[in-house]
Amino acid sequence: MLHDLELISVGKTYPDGTVAVSDFDLQVEKGEFVAFLGPSGCGKSTTLRMIAGFEDITNGELMMMGHNMTHVPPEKRPTSMIFQNYALFPHMSVRDNVAFGLDIKGTPKAERDRKVDRILDMFDLDAYADRKADKLSGGQRQRIALARGLVVEPEILLLDEPLGALDANLRRIIQNELKLLQRELGITFIFVTHAQSEALGLSDRVVVMSNGVVEQISPPRELYRRPATPFVADFIGSNAVIEGTPLGAGAAGMGRVDTPLGVIEGVGTGSEKLAAIPAEAFRIAPLNTPGELHLAGTVSHRQLVGAVGHLRVRLANDQEIAVEVHADRPEVKALVPGTPLTLGVDPQAVTLIHA
Ligand code: ADP
Repeated sequence: MLHDLELISVGKTYPDGTVAVSDFDLQVEKGEFVAFLGPSGCGKSTTLRMIAGFEDITNGELMMMGHNMTHVPPEKRPTSMIFQNYALFPHMSVRDNVAFGLDIKGTPKAERDRKVDRILDMFDLDAYADRKADKLSGGQRQRIALARGLVVEPEILLLDEPLGALDANLRRIIQNELKLLQRELGITFIFVTHAQSEALGLSDRVVVMSNGVVEQISPPRELYRRPATPFVADFIGSNAVIEGTPLGAGAAGMGRVDTPLGVIEGVGTGSEKLAAIPAEAFRIAPLNTPGELHLAGTVSHRQLVGAVGHLRVRLANDQEIAVEVHADRPEVKALVPGTPLTLGVDPQAVTLIHA
């Protein structure tokens, strides 16, 4: 099986000794939309630049469609990169900006003009073709940057926080356009962002990074449902993470942890110390189904935001956790701070993770 893009134990140590990325493993299929998500400084851009060829790879190997690209220069890779600040030439026309990548490749003039015209048309930029890039709005500049990245017909488009410079409204519009465009072209997109909503809303899979290591690679929903590490449980959504001692395996695919709040069963092997419970997995009126986990606590805070009720609940061990409920349920009205309650959780919604 040839992957469109494959990183095999890729690592980067900068000349000053900074280890920016270690043991990065990833396989991407043709047409996938993959986001690199993590806090500033976790190594997202370094990894993207290594894929583009703008940064040397100091460990491991980089493959594209079965070819080893580890030491191939950027212009010989089937990639194209879009930068956060777009890196347009302000005093060059839109047309010349878009043609830049083709000029670097030495594309003959007739072919260059044909390709540029086609892509300007596709991005509704034909009317601005001869205008200087600095005489355009943020949204238009963003489109020029996309057009410039795509005109060279890359197999893989690399986007480094491409929406970072846009205001919230324009960001939403361009996000939608980007997703449609990606579907339409079937090009592989690798997208770097520190904005959770962007990564989770746009991509097929998310690579969550912290401190230069990959924490988890999963479709967005899985990151919420099944955090693989304490970092992901803390970074994505709101999870109650309860610590205890491993009690071994239970029913098929389930494990148990002995915690100060009682034995908690969840999806895992039983060798884990932590139980993660997403805020939206709690029921405030527990059913008496066998196996359901019950946790007693007291409401410490309640905020209703539209249809969602955000509760903070203090448990018997003094740990405060987040609970999300439907705000329109009648019992939620009674949950003012100080109210005791019992939370119910289906063990299938609990994920056991290693500390
Ligand atoms: P992110 O894109 O997630 O914000 P970066 O990839 O830019 O993170 O940076 C990862 C780490 O590498 C950080 O600690 C950063 O300070 C360091 N770093 C980035 N570029 C260089 C460089 N040229 N020389 C030394 N360290 C660098």
